[in-house]
Amino acid sequence: MAGRSDLTSHAYRTLRASVLAEDDTCVLCGHPGSDATDHLVPVSRGGAAVDRDNLAPIHGVAGCPTCGRKCNNLKGNRPLAQVSRLVTSRDWYAGPA
Ligand SMILES: [Zn+2]
Ligand SMILES: [Zn+2]
Repeated sequence: MAGRSDLTSHAYRTLRASVLAEDDTCVLCGHPGSDATDHLVPVSRGGAAVDRDNLAPIHGVAGCPTCGRKCNNLKGNRPLAQVSRLVTSRDWYAGPA
């Protein structure tokens, strides 16, 4: 089983910085100011850990400056396709894990 070491590698941090420099609009809530990136396909589910196409901007531990959500925590480890976006639905927010 793959570890999480890739997520702290220099390559990942460099890629994350370039993703956020290009677009910091949160993939989950749709507000700007993302300070983290999320894997569209979780690494634990076979997604590439360091791949520009598998990374999207998201609000991390600091939360969203606009709506206050900690989007990365809310999304958890689910593939984005299984998480309805906050801007279109709130149902999943209280749904089953
Ligand atoms: Zn957000
Ligand atoms: Zn927001």
